[in-house]
Amino acid sequence: MISFKNFTYTYPKGTEPALKNIDLDIEEGEFILVTGSSGAGKTTLCRALFGALHHDIGGDIKGSIQIKGKDVSQYNIGIIGAFMGVVFDDPDSQLFMPLVEDEIKFGLQARNLPSSEKDVIRVLDRVGIAHLIKRAPHELSGGQKQKVAIAAAMANDPEILVFDEPTSQLDPQSTIEIFKILSELRGQGKTIILVEQKLEDIIDKVDKIAVIDHGNLAAFGKPRESLKCE
Ligand code: ADP
Ligand code: ADP
Repeated sequence: MISFKNFTYTYPKGTEPALKNIDLDIEEGEFILVTGSSGAGKTTLCRALFGALHHDIGGDIKGSIQIKGKDVSQYNIGIIGAFMGVVFDDPDSQLFMPLVEDEIKFGLQARNLPSSEKDVIRVLDRVGIAHLIKRAPHELSGGQKQKVAIAAAMANDPEILVFDEPTSQLDPQSTIEIFKILSELRGQGKTIILVEQKLEDIIDKVDKIAVIDHGNLAAFGKPRESLKCE
C-alpha cells in the first residue's frame, strides 16, 4: 500500500535531513503506530505521506515514496485526499469553515457524497459531537476541535488514515474513545498510520510500531519486540 524507498528529506534551510534513508513498507489494512521523541521526524513522515514535501519549494528529496503503486510526486494533493484522510497535530491548521457543519459538508461534497444535515450528523456522531454541528470551530475547546478534525478526515471513508497526535489535546476519556474508533477503523480494513507518544493505551491494538530517532527508522515491527530493541 505504502512503500518508502531510501527516502531522505531535508527542509529548505535545514542543516541536516529530517528523515534519513527511510525504508518502510506498510501493507493494506495495517495499523501502524509511529513514535519517537519530539523533533525525531514524525510529523515530517506524515507530511511525506500525503505529498506535502514534494510541494515544498526548496526542500531536498532523495529516494521515493510509492502509494498504491504510484510515486507520491505523481498525485496532486486533491487526488490523494480522495483515498487518504489526514489529521494534523494542530487542529487550527485544518479547520477553516464558519461552522462545524460546513467543515464536514465540504469534505463530503468534495467527493460527491450526499451531504444533507442527516449525513453530517452521522459523521459527527462517530466521534460523539453531533451536538456541536452549529458551532464555529474557532470557538471550540482544543479537544473539541480535534474531534471535528477527526470526523472531517473520516467523512469520505478513505482507505488510508493518517493521524498526527490526534489526542494531544484530549482528556484521557476522549483519548480512549478515539483509540476505540481507530480500532474499529482497523476492523473495517483501513490502513492507519498513527503518530502517538503516549503508548500505554494503544500499543496492544496496533499491528506494528515504527520508532523514529533523529530522522532514522530505528525500529519497525511487532510492538513489544520493537520497543525492546531500542
Ligand atoms: P516530530 O514530529 O517528531 O516532533 P518533525 O517532523 O516536526 O518532528 O521535525 C523533524 C526535524 O525537522 C526537527 O529537527 C525539526 O526542527 C525540523 N523541521 C520541521 N519542520 C521544519 C521546517 N519547516 N523547516 C526546517 N526544519 C524543520
Ligand atoms: P476542554 O475541557 O476540552 O479543555 P475548555 O475548557 O477549553 O474545554 O472549554 C470548555 C467550553 O468552553 C467548551 O464547550 C468550549 O466550546 C467553550 N470554549 C472554549 N474556548 C472558547 C472560546 N474561545 N470561545 C467560545 N467558547 C469557548
